[in-house]
Amino acid sequence: MLPAVFVAHGSPMVALDDDEYTRALRGLGARQPRPRAIACVSAHWQLAGPVRVTAHPRPPLIYDFGGFPDALYRLSYPAPGAPDVAAEIVALLGAAGIAAALDPARGLDHGVWVPLRHAVPAADIPIVAVSLPAVAPNELLALGRALAPLRDRGVLLLGSGGIVHNLGRLHPDQHGAPIAPWARAFDHWVRARLETRDLAALADYRRAAPHAALAVPTTEHFDPLLVVAGSTGSDDQVTDVFVGFQHGTLSLRCVAFEPPPA
Ligand code: ZN
Repeated sequence: MLPAVFVAHGSPMVALDDDEYTRALRGLGARQPRPRAIACVSAHWQLAGPVRVTAHPRPPLIYDFGGFPDALYRLSYPAPGAPDVAAEIVALLGAAGIAAALDPARGLDHGVWVPLRHAVPAADIPIVAVSLPAVAPNELLALGRALAPLRDRGVLLLGSGGIVHNLGRLHPDQHGAPIAPWARAFDHWVRARLETRDLAALADYRRAAPHAALAVPTTEHFDPLLVVAGSTGSDDQVTDVFVGFQHGTLSLRCVAFEPPPA
């Protein structure tokens, strides 16, 4: 069974970084077995209505950020798509009562390609992006449950966002700014709920977690974690792929869920 993984994608500038965090992503991509495809739910494709699934055979990159150095807009990531996997996903979601449709034109947003450029630098694993519905936590967990069978079919389920993501509270010019206590407290609360797979508490984070309104001012970066968590079973163990913050409040915690070795 393939793991389900949540990555924080950080700032778009991460695409140009070579540090502990990007090396952790590289280590993640080097794990065996290699997936036959990666299905990614990104913070940067939040949509109302039916879930959309990319079916482009050669998905173009979307440079969905502004005001960054030119070098970022010249990066490429020529990973193939996987129209067959996209069709499987639409069928799985339909069987679970979740409306879904193929999207033949959409490419890969930076929440998908920035971390995958580090994790799979050869760009030789096909990628399918799955849109993030703007729905309540329990429905995001249900989306993860519906996608879980992919993990038995050689597909790695990836969520890309950030556990603490508040652009108004960043120190943009201070990469190594001291970590804000409220950011650390929220990040730790979430990690503890993941450790015990307490999905009911996790879904109730806005009421139950410390500083939730500060850590998650808008839900799109947190929601992919709920999708990933929803795909996990009682056998899955959670491990940290990376733990850390940048710019004082931006959590880069990445976690993998996988069954214990047989
Ligand atoms: Zn983002």
